[in-house]
Amino acid sequence: MEPRVTVLRALLRGLARRCPRCGRGPLYERWNQLWPSCTVCGLPFETRSGDTWFFTYVTTAGLTGVLIVTMILLQPPSVFVGQLVLLPVAIGLMLGSVPFRKGVAIAIDYLVDRSVQGGSEPAPTGSSRDATGSEPPSGAQPR
Ligand SMILES: [Zn+2]
Repeated sequence: MEPRVTVLRALLRGLARRCPRCGRGPLYERWNQLWPSCTVCGLPFETRSGDTWFFTYVTTAGLTGVLIVTMILLQPPSVFVGQLVLLPVAIGLMLGSVPFRKGVAIAIDYLVDRSVQGGSEPAPTGSSRDATGSEPPSGAQPR
């Protein structure tokens, strides 16, 4: 069994667009098209899309704030010139960073899943998610 992945390592793997669990499987089939699951270890990626979109939205808002503060600090000769420069920079930064930010979001989701499941690894693709909740409650008595 492989050693447990540290939080920092999982996040760095996500940022590098690699599977947060094994670090070997790529997250993306193409630029921004996720594999359904890791091609090496089977960790599901697509089941996490709702959480990753929230993270992507929040980081987009954060990047927008950074760009606005940058424009205020740089004090362009006119607001129009500032907007003219800022618009392509903002579009390039927002779109270009989506796969990396989504990779970090998938890593965070993986870490949360692992934490919620008491430190056990999330189920690989193909096995039922119900299996995690199928343990009988402690103290249950057969009749
Ligand atoms: Zn993997």
